[in-house]
Amino acid sequence: MIYNESISIAKENLKKTLAFIAANKLSPNPISYTVCYEYVSGKNLALSAEVQRRLENWNRIDSLVVQEIYEQFFVEESDERSGEFCRAVENILKEILQHITTSDSGIKEYGTILEQHLNVLKSNPNPDVLKDIVIDLAKSTHEASKAASSLQHYLQKVQEEANSLRVQLELLREEASIDMLTGLLNRKSLDHMLVETMEKTVVEKGIFSLLMLDIDHFKHVNDQYGHLIGDEIIKHVGQCIKECIRGTDVAVRYGGEEFTVLLPATSIDGATKVAETIRSTIEKLNLVRKPNNEKLPKITISIGVSSYKENDGKQDIIERADKALYKSKQSGRNRVSIESD
Ligand code: GH3
Ligand code: MG
Ligand code: MG
Repeated sequence: MIYNESISIAKENLKKTLAFIAANKLSPNPISYTVCYEYVSGKNLALSAEVQRRLENWNRIDSLVVQEIYEQFFVEESDERSGEFCRAVENILKEILQHITTSDSGIKEYGTILEQHLNVLKSNPNPDVLKDIVIDLAKSTHEASKAASSLQHYLQKVQEEANSLRVQLELLREEASIDMLTGLLNRKSLDHMLVETMEKTVVEKGIFSLLMLDIDHFKHVNDQYGHLIGDEIIKHVGQCIKECIRGTDVAVRYGGEEFTVLLPATSIDGATKVAETIRSTIEKLNLVRKPNNEKLPKITISIGVSSYKENDGKQDIIERADKALYKSKQSGRNRVSIESD
């Protein structure tokens, strides 16, 4: 992010940002401010297009959407934190090296002393010399063992530190790749997974497929029951999708009430079967509103299926699944459509 606008333009943007935050009933926290400032100032075209897309769908954006957009466009924070980890690991390595060199010299010295004593012994020394050797042996052995045990102690500390860094790093990676509402992977992770799966597919001359899923008439659900219930339904649908797929498949919340499933080593027929299982499972759900168990409306989902084709780019397979999803919507919703050839 580079902010090189004049103070008067920045002030103007500040006013617009606060007005936008108020109009969307957002909390004026730094995350909302960053996203909304970038939007109203038109500095970031991709971000503006994403906010616009959400606004067209829903007239306003809420804090969850703001959080998603923030994660999508401002990954620098986690990169920065990764950088901190790198520096911490680098420091540990430097310290270990220094420790090893110091204690190593202690051990080396001990070896030299032993060799010298051995040489003296070969020349049949008198009892006084023998006594000196024994005294010196005890002393130098003590010094060497002190050096060795301080190294061992230090290495143990380093191991603990490295373990704690590893756990923190794993948490950081997870945080950055998971959608907060559903616990599924987020769109950013889909990008990584798609690239990885494509590379593997090319190398192994394999196959893989992809589903794009979108809850039907979800605007009505929000309008009738409010966004909180809407969010709960999104969470539940995400869980259902997860339960319908196998361990190697990847479920992603693509955004809003849209999901993607990546199916490695799966043909278009196999993927269509999975899609049909998801569709029919969701159709059969009997959702109720807690705590009075009021019945919620039936939820249905439309799905588009596509399969990897040679020379596909990352976006191609998504676009074909999206078009197939559109076909499902056009032909009556609550159905599965396969990409056109
Ligand atoms: P259809 O997909 O069948 O064409 O109709 P739809 O009503 O679902 O339309 P569309 O997919 O265009 O709109 C998505 C709606 O989903 C808009 C908004 O009301 C709702 N929505 C999107 N994201 C969220 C979210 O994070 N939480 C909640 N509660 N609702 C969301
Ligand atoms: Mg949608
Ligand atoms: Mg929808």
